[in-house]
Amino acid sequence: TGACLSAIEKAGALNAFVHHTPEIAQEQAAAADQRLKAGDAPALCGIPLGIKDLFCTRGVPSQAASGILEGFRPEYESTVTRQLFASGAVMLGKLNMDEFAMGSSNETSVYGNAVNPWKVDDRLLTPGGSSGGSAAAVAGDLCLGATGTDTGGSIRQPAAFTGIVGIKPTYGRCSRWGIVAFASSLDQAGPMTKTVRDAAIMLQAMAGHDPMDSTSADIPVPDFEAALTGDIRGKKIGIPREYRMEGMPAEIEKLWADGAAMLRDAGAEIVDISLPHTKYALPAYYVVAPAEASSNLARYDGVRYGHRAALGKGDGIVEMYEKTRAEGFGKEVQRRVMIGTYVLSAGFYDAYYNRARKVRALIKRDFDEVFAAGVDAILTPATPSSAFGLGEMASADPVQMYLNDVFTVTVNLAGLPGISVPAGLDQKGLPLGLQLIGRPWAEGDLLNHAYVLE
Ligand code: GLN
Repeated sequence: TGACLSAIEKAGALNAFVHHTPEIAQEQAAAADQRLKAGDAPALCGIPLGIKDLFCTRGVPSQAASGILEGFRPEYESTVTRQLFASGAVMLGKLNMDEFAMGSSNETSVYGNAVNPWKVDDRLLTPGGSSGGSAAAVAGDLCLGATGTDTGGSIRQPAAFTGIVGIKPTYGRCSRWGIVAFASSLDQAGPMTKTVRDAAIMLQAMAGHDPMDSTSADIPVPDFEAALTGDIRGKKIGIPREYRMEGMPAEIEKLWADGAAMLRDAGAEIVDISLPHTKYALPAYYVVAPAEASSNLARYDGVRYGHRAALGKGDGIVEMYEKTRAEGFGKEVQRRVMIGTYVLSAGFYDAYYNRARKVRALIKRDFDEVFAAGVDAILTPATPSSAFGLGEMASADPVQMYLNDVFTVTVNLAGLPGISVPAGLDQKGLPLGLQLIGRPWAEGDLLNHAYVLE
């Protein structure tokens, strides 16, 4: 904990931590020491972690990197962080992210972008997003692990961009209680760590049924670390042909083929599969996610939380709502609220929202059929490129940024577990990740496949 606290002090340029909690860290570390001495050390005893700013942490600023939650200190603790601390973990502080987890580069944050510890010729790169601060902190050795959340790729894409491991569990595996909601039917928390084993240990502490979240699953959590046998003989790995996008860089193709070869060498059978509705995933996601976001973000009205705009003479409650939301929300969040409100409005509901829901069901069915045919896991690239430069995409058409999520959003739409594992460097010397997608509730098996690739 001491080493991490001093590393954080020296790494201000990464802008990974946005609220520092050294007093809490010292206190938790001292308590962990006592437990160690008493011979009662739980799995994460004394392990220093960073917590994404989307998690409500009691008494500590929790702003989802938004101006609208300025000054908000929750009176309660999210279930996931409560479980981590019960497991002995130490909180170093809160981590930067895209505002309300909307973005793929950490550039929509009210705190400014986080920076990727990896560089090419001193050019500053994005750590990815939305869990960009989490990725930068783990890759930059500021903590041993971090929490992330993933609605459309926000754990897996930043993990790939920074050369670390990130797993999005099955929808319902971790409680969403106390995590600021973006798109409730897609959001899942997960660990971001240096190794697959660390991910297994950390996920163990995060997972489990919680009566406070009606979508959290009441099914047993197996021993994830025990699943890491390295034995994948006889397993069937699917390579989905629809993920071979036109214009895919040769080095991503090679990475993918090398990953398949490693799994084959370890005794798995590699099979070609088809997920025919893949091409509709991005448009469906960018209807469903903003729709849910527009509804979830309606609660930020200047009354209950955080920021309230100064009012002029004659301003009433409507002006208060309008001014507060115009000042408090950033551009990307406002864009999502507008898209969401539009696709849910009476005249357009059937044409957009209902259609997107139907497409989502078809995407899920594609996966169900492949798994029913005996496939154990699916291998794809995690991202279409390595980390891009800061400012490079943010200034372009927002759709360019959305295209980054092409390999990851299907997994959220289908509620499946997905993991990104570091898989080598590209020609520029930047990390690339491979994604493995697993059967529902088979995180142990998924982690074991990732363990072979690591
Ligand atoms: N980049 C995607 C978006 O902007 C995914 C974000 C996420 O997973 N939270 O919506």
